[in-house]
Amino acid sequence: MRVEENKPLAPFTTFGIGGPARWFVEAASEDEVMEAAAWARAQGLALFVLGGGSNLLVSDDGFDGLVLRVGLRGVAVDDVERAGEKNYRVAAGEDWDGFVERTVRDQCAGVECLAGIPGTVGGTPVQNVGAYGQEVASVIKRVRAFDREQDAYVEFSAAECGFAYRRSRFNAEDRARYVVTRVDYRLTPGGAPTLRYADLQRVLAESGAAPSLAEVAAAVRRIRLAKGMLLVEGDADCRSAGSFFKNPVVSEDEVRRVAECSEKEPPRFPAGDGKVKLPAAWLIEQAGFSKGYALGAAGVSSRHTLALINRGGATAREILELARQIAAAVEVRFGIELEMEPVLVGL
Ligand SMILES: Cc1cc2nc3c(=O)[nH]c(=O)nc-3n(C[C@H](O)[C@H](O)[C@H](O)COP(=O)(O)OP(=O)(O)OC[C@H]3O[C@@H](n4cnc5c(N)ncnc54)[C@H](O)[C@@H]3O)c2cc1C
Repeated sequence: MRVEENKPLAPFTTFGIGGPARWFVEAASEDEVMEAAAWARAQGLALFVLGGGSNLLVSDDGFDGLVLRVGLRGVAVDDVERAGEKNYRVAAGEDWDGFVERTVRDQCAGVECLAGIPGTVGGTPVQNVGAYGQEVASVIKRVRAFDREQDAYVEFSAAECGFAYRRSRFNAEDRARYVVTRVDYRLTPGGAPTLRYADLQRVLAESGAAPSLAEVAAAVRRIRLAKGMLLVEGDADCRSAGSFFKNPVVSEDEVRRVAECSEKEPPRFPAGDGKVKLPAAWLIEQAGFSKGYALGAAGVSSRHTLALINRGGATAREILELARQIAAAVEVRFGIELEMEPVLVGL
């Protein structure tokens, strides 16, 4: 295990923001994860687990502890295809999008709509990654993780992960307790693609015939590219952490109140249990922040109101100030409290 000191974190994040980690380790095996956790404990240091850095806002002062970057690699596929399922056992440091590409190539359905999401496999159960009608919760079979409290490896079934919209035990009651080292996904060989999302249906309707998994994944990437939600070298709109706010899940009464506060009818989506999901992007626009809005070096993406971006040289403080102004405006206009999606590190 190689421990580095004062390692700049900005290059490890999609925002490109953040000061140094006091200590930094990249773990390539489960033994190294254990060793790094023991080292941090022995030194009395805080530990932060870093994946692909695509859902983080790191303090300008950095992190005064050990940053453990999960670098475990490898994908194993079940030799025996059970009736209607194929299992992939994927090390947490694998690139998520690379894994999606592979499943699509293997003609296995289940994650094709999650193409183009940056980050690692280990990051996907943490906030139950989702987009365009799919969530990893529906295909995760098992999560293996190092438990820092018990100093031992443990495994969770999907039911034990406590998945909900952008939530799991890993970012809620057990935040910072586990280091995910492996995720098992159960996919459907020869399965049909998921076509629940209106934007996706519209794009694919143009081609006529029933789309393949590869066509759906490619369409998702095109939509993402148009919204600046695909990482493309040199594209300023993707210097972000993706969506900065979660879509609020509210009651019908709250939707009525929002409608009364606006000349336009709010778009809404069923969220189960009689609840409704309101697009945060719509609320933000109605509250006066449009695409391309700038506050110093922080800004709103020119292609998607939900992404706050680093326009070049932005500090974490500037991004947070813009987020604060947006959230305050939405609250004043609609009485809805927006919740941030990215994880704040050292802030
Ligand atoms: C352009 C863009 C588009 C995006 N689109 C989407 C989208 O459509 N849907 C969506 O859900 N998200 C989206 N995101 C957010 C992000 O890509 C996902 O949340 C991703 O899963 C984060 O994974 P990561 O490896 O980068 O985690 P990081 O950003 O490194 O970490 C995020 C959190 O997960 C924890 N973590 C990471 N790895 C592990 C591990 N192995 N064990 C324990 N904890 C861990 C970290 O401690 C931290 O709390 C987008 C981001 C960007 C930049």
